[in-house]
Amino acid sequence: MLAGRLAAVEERIDRACRRAGRSRADVTLVAVTKTVNAEVAALMPALGVRDFGESRPQELWRKAAGLPVEVGWHLIGHLQRNKIERTVPLVQLVHAVDSVRLLHALEEDNQRDTIRVLLEVNASGEANKQGFAPDALPSLAADLAGLKRVRVEGLMTMAAYEEDAERCRPTFTLLRTLRDRLQTTIGDAHRLRHLSMGMSNDFEIAIEEGATLVRLGTVLFEGMEGTEP
Ligand SMILES: *Cc1c(COP(=O)(O)O)cnc(C)c1O
Repeated sequence: MLAGRLAAVEERIDRACRRAGRSRADVTLVAVTKTVNAEVAALMPALGVRDFGESRPQELWRKAAGLPVEVGWHLIGHLQRNKIERTVPLVQLVHAVDSVRLLHALEEDNQRDTIRVLLEVNASGEANKQGFAPDALPSLAADLAGLKRVRVEGLMTMAAYEEDAERCRPTFTLLRTLRDRLQTTIGDAHRLRHLSMGMSNDFEIAIEEGATLVRLGTVLFEGMEGTEP
């Protein structure tokens, strides 16, 4: 079942890349395992998927302990400062840095030479969403310039849920524009090569708008929720 689901998703990713004139190699599928247990997640590497996303640090710690080490973990949800120490050694990318305070706290963690992060942006402008407001980004330039250990590699957003995914397009276009502008503002202090955007409902539109990381849960794992935790 999982192999069939994945093949269908791969086909959709491929077609979206072709529509946009992009290379498939420029888009990474991050399998969001938050609704399934480690046994289901463990089936993915054999199918060619090695990037895994969890939204809660504690759940990431738990799953990472049960999966092979060649899996690359992405923390896609909020990171509390008191969870930095246990999380940093386990993850290859922190997607949702949403405050200067968190940036600085990550900078102070000395377990690794480099910590790769994305800045979460509330590009849909919803009141209940976390992330930097779009117009707060330019004022981050000085903070970003001072970072040595933390490497900011791009922006991340969640679009509002829309029945018609086409209506998510402006959110994704905005994130790309914000990334381009911020890159101009900060010069070569950080190379903002990533846009983490697109979920089960809207990933094809996100790819058309430049997503380099799509975070997919439901479309892969719906109905496979285990009895854990
Ligand atoms: C759960 C989650 C996803 C996956 O969403 P689906 O709609 O199930 O694909 C992606 N990104 C974040 C931040 C999430 O929390």
